[in-house]
Amino acid sequence: MNVASLTIEGVRRGLHARDFSAVELAQAALHFAQAENSKTNAFLTFSEERAITAAKAVDEKLARGEDAGLLAGVPLAIKDVILTRGLTTTCGSRLLEHYIPPYDATAVVRVEQAGGIIIGKTNCDEFAMGSSNENSAYGPVRNPVAPGRVPGGSSGGSAAAVAQGAAVAALGSDTGGSIRQPASFCGVVGVTPTYGRVSRYGLAAFASSLDHIGPLARNVADAAAVLRVIAGRDPADSTSANAPVPDYAACFDRNVRGLKVGLPREYIKDLTSETGDLLARGVATLKTLGCDVREISLPATDYAVATYYIIATAEASSNLARYDGVRYTFRSNQSRTLSEMYRNTRGEGFGVECKRRIMLGTYVLSAGYYDAYYLKAQKVRALIARDFAQAFETVDAIVTPVSPFPAFRLGEKVDDPLAMYLSDIYTITGDLAGIPCMSVPCGTTTEGLPVGMQILTRHFDETTMFRLADAFETAGGPD
Ligand code: GLN
Repeated sequence: MNVASLTIEGVRRGLHARDFSAVELAQAALHFAQAENSKTNAFLTFSEERAITAAKAVDEKLARGEDAGLLAGVPLAIKDVILTRGLTTTCGSRLLEHYIPPYDATAVVRVEQAGGIIIGKTNCDEFAMGSSNENSAYGPVRNPVAPGRVPGGSSGGSAAAVAQGAAVAALGSDTGGSIRQPASFCGVVGVTPTYGRVSRYGLAAFASSLDHIGPLARNVADAAAVLRVIAGRDPADSTSANAPVPDYAACFDRNVRGLKVGLPREYIKDLTSETGDLLARGVATLKTLGCDVREISLPATDYAVATYYIIATAEASSNLARYDGVRYTFRSNQSRTLSEMYRNTRGEGFGVECKRRIMLGTYVLSAGYYDAYYLKAQKVRALIARDFAQAFETVDAIVTPVSPFPAFRLGEKVDDPLAMYLSDIYTITGDLAGIPCMSVPCGTTTEGLPVGMQILTRHFDETTMFRLADAFETAGGPD
């Protein structure tokens, strides 16, 4: 068996043909992931015991002829901002270096109920704040496709784990692009579902009104299968939606003839030439497939980055207030008074990017500035959502680049936060509007760097998004 190129369908066939058992596959995946980790630093923790126990259960079910679930025996990696009971969950932060959660996130419970095998926890930017994985307290992740370059962020470890072949699929989280941008940089599929589609219970909160859990995988069908497993109402998250979860795979009819696809002019003006060329060739494929591609306008796009960095930091400043040295593991021992303990714990525990955001977020929420910044940003967020709603009156899907440029070099943007923030210029709007969006591979540059194409659809219409992405993937990507 070649773990590095398996898909969910490949795992299913291999198990049924008895080419390998779930335990053998779990062992092989763990072995591969551990051996490869020195190259990428994608994993922070491996969960051998948990993986083997789960794999044994799958083998027993199969031996009894029972249905072992949609993800039976599939090795998966989980971003380290998603809580796993009994398994260290650091959120990429020094503050949670020894934190062992007392419960599993709902998405994790559902993955395991469906027979998925969790092999480990993946590296990420601290509390999911970043676009390159360089904000992790545990060192950066290297892009497996181009080791001198970043894998993107903040779900860089999850994208790298899938791209290098250690995990068949992974869970990531996305607040402003953290699933799609690393997926694009590493050449895998990454999906940010509709806000509320997947329970956030057990996801360490960054900006609650924007946070999503979603899958990264080697192909569209696998991403759709993982989403189907983790999606659906969860009483533990009041923002999770009570919408029926379709069988996405049943909609892969490869027929997208006549589908109306919008290409927003605001998204194509600042691309590097190669990214622009690849997107244009991707669009040419969509036309060949019979899509009715037309130019559209999303006029509020220019305000997206500013709006996001006000709302996300405001919510982050509030969410991160809980790490005060009292309830979670890390506590500074340099202090004489309670307030010194708070200050020192946070001062020593948080990295620079988290501190920057806590300060910015506290500022935009403070009396006298709230109306000028936070309230204004909320109004612009409504305009961005309205742009999409209006566009979806005439088109069924919107296609854009994922990032203005492919994977950049390690260190290239770390000292320039504003340049880093621009990585997400095309992904932030989908989160602000709460609509489903994904990155599907759209070729590579002459240097061999992967580039993704973003597809966005109406709220809860992941089906159209997957159908278009699957047809595009089947057609072989850009023309
Ligand atoms: N890169 C963006 C940020 O730094 C998005 C992060 C995310 O989606 N979690 O906030």
